[in-house]
Amino acid sequence: MLEKMKGFSIDQFIEEFQELTKDPETVQRETLKRILVDNGEAEYLQNLGLDGRTDPDSFKSCVPLVTHEELEPYISRIVDGSASRVLTGKPVTSISLSSGTTQGKPKFIPFNEDLVQSTMQIYKTSFVFRNRAYPLKNGKALQFIYSSKQFKTKGGLTATTATTNVYRSKQFKGTMKDIHSLCCSPDEVIFSPDYNQSLYCHLLCGLIYSEEVQLVSSTFAHSIVHAFRTFEQVWEELCDDIREGVLSSRITIPSIRAAVSKLMHPNPQLADTIYNKCVGLSGWYGVIPELWPNAKYVYGIMTGSMEPYLNKLRHYAGSLPLMSADYGSSEGWIGANIDPDVPPESVSFTVLPNIGFFEFIPVKERAEGEEKCGSLIQCREQEPIGLTEVKLGEEYEIVITTFAGLYRYRLGDILKVSGFHNSTPKLQFVRRKNLILTINIDKNTEKDLQLAVEEANKLLAAEKLEVMDFTSHVDVTSEPGHYVVFLELNGEAHEEVLRACSDCLDRAFVDAGYVSSRKVRAIAPLELRVVRQGTFHRILDHYLSLGGAMSQYKTPRCVSPVNGMVLQILNGNVMKSYFSSAYD
Ligand code: AMP
Repeated sequence: MLEKMKGFSIDQFIEEFQELTKDPETVQRETLKRILVDNGEAEYLQNLGLDGRTDPDSFKSCVPLVTHEELEPYISRIVDGSASRVLTGKPVTSISLSSGTTQGKPKFIPFNEDLVQSTMQIYKTSFVFRNRAYPLKNGKALQFIYSSKQFKTKGGLTATTATTNVYRSKQFKGTMKDIHSLCCSPDEVIFSPDYNQSLYCHLLCGLIYSEEVQLVSSTFAHSIVHAFRTFEQVWEELCDDIREGVLSSRITIPSIRAAVSKLMHPNPQLADTIYNKCVGLSGWYGVIPELWPNAKYVYGIMTGSMEPYLNKLRHYAGSLPLMSADYGSSEGWIGANIDPDVPPESVSFTVLPNIGFFEFIPVKERAEGEEKCGSLIQCREQEPIGLTEVKLGEEYEIVITTFAGLYRYRLGDILKVSGFHNSTPKLQFVRRKNLILTINIDKNTEKDLQLAVEEANKLLAAEKLEVMDFTSHVDVTSEPGHYVVFLELNGEAHEEVLRACSDCLDRAFVDAGYVSSRKVRAIAPLELRVVRQGTFHRILDHYLSLGGAMSQYKTPRCVSPVNGMVLQILNGNVMKSYFSSAYD
């Protein structure tokens, strides 16, 4: 349907979206059929005995649920250049690397043109709804987008992050133009091998086009916060560059220097305006609308592991609305945010039923009377159900089947059904499925850690301090083991406040397993380690050096000995450490 579209008619697009969401069951059946017909020749499917059947029941009975680990042998053969059709009918055109902050190393995922198509469909879907509420005129976007390093696999495929694969695609620029989001910065800045130089130039280009900028965005909210933290450091240098019309000597990559220099000429008037606005701000509150007066909103993924950055983002955005972007992964997209006025904390994603086949494994708390196991941890595995069988208010683990060779693939995310658009479910992101903190019978997830840090942050806020970033670790080097929470703060806190924070963190893990283990000392007191400013920046640099992309970066919320280097960076930067006395 979409492929036939010439140009971009918003009304037509909305009409098509309404049609698509009215009968998701039929659309899902057709989508599964297309996936299985397109990929019928793939060795993986051939071996499962589908024998040409494409209905959901046969599919579910023949094809097993899999994790990424189970598919790795197949993906490795593609990466190594296998001549046969391993997972897909059409050849895999490149390999995407996931952010890798959950597992400690990037995952390899097949990428093809269908993923580009669905990315464009998602971008356009949320745009048409956003644009009704906040219309954009032809203008520019200050987009903090970055490509990542690329390399050739043994089999000659290009491997890079999914976002880079999308930015490199022919359709990307066309779609960005259609949705009035053309980046201020030239391509050389986006495709720079050094994200620090890119970031500086994004800020500079954004300032040069300050009157034309209609929105400020990035893939994930973290990149926007990171950009403005950097702006606080470099704003005077940016003003100097604009005043003189000469690019700072910190930009050393010739292609970037050439491309950005073309946009520059001495502009003392603009430099003075920016300078005066910056000195007039109090604590950088509202810097975005002040410097980009025609920006209508700030846009990026603000849900899930991005929530801890919302306070800071709101601070920089001042009066501008924050709009949280869509839900997907390197493996494939899932849903679009079509309610632009909903605050980021409550955003849900309407599933696009034609971009993949979706199943849902119910996540149940144990029945009353049985021992409660953690915060809604999946206790008994249940049969997956279809997109149209999910129930309002229930939580599920999502399973995806894509055009790019993933069949009944457990993505590892837990979602909650928050409503329906026409007959299609709307999903809220709840958390990653995996436990990050567990020693014996305790079970804590990334979300539990986030809530604990929010509690400690309240104590710090009373002292006008804030948590810049955080992570955790299970220390079992001595018996019994204990939780370690690393915090980077934006200033120096008094000893007693930090002691109170360590107690507060310890008490904030409320799952029955943790509390009972702490009470009987089967888990030792929680330890708060305060790290030097800049520590999390070093961790980011480390991930980027491994081939990760700034555009997809998510701070690892738990560091195990597998991430030896990250643990070394953290421990090498500890300034103070405090053990909780909460259960003494
Ligand atoms: P990656 O493939 O490295 O970009 O990571 C994909 C993962 O990021 C997903 O599986 C989710 O856990 C998370 N993610 C993506 N989009 C969102 C969103 N809108 N809200 C919350 N988490 C998200």
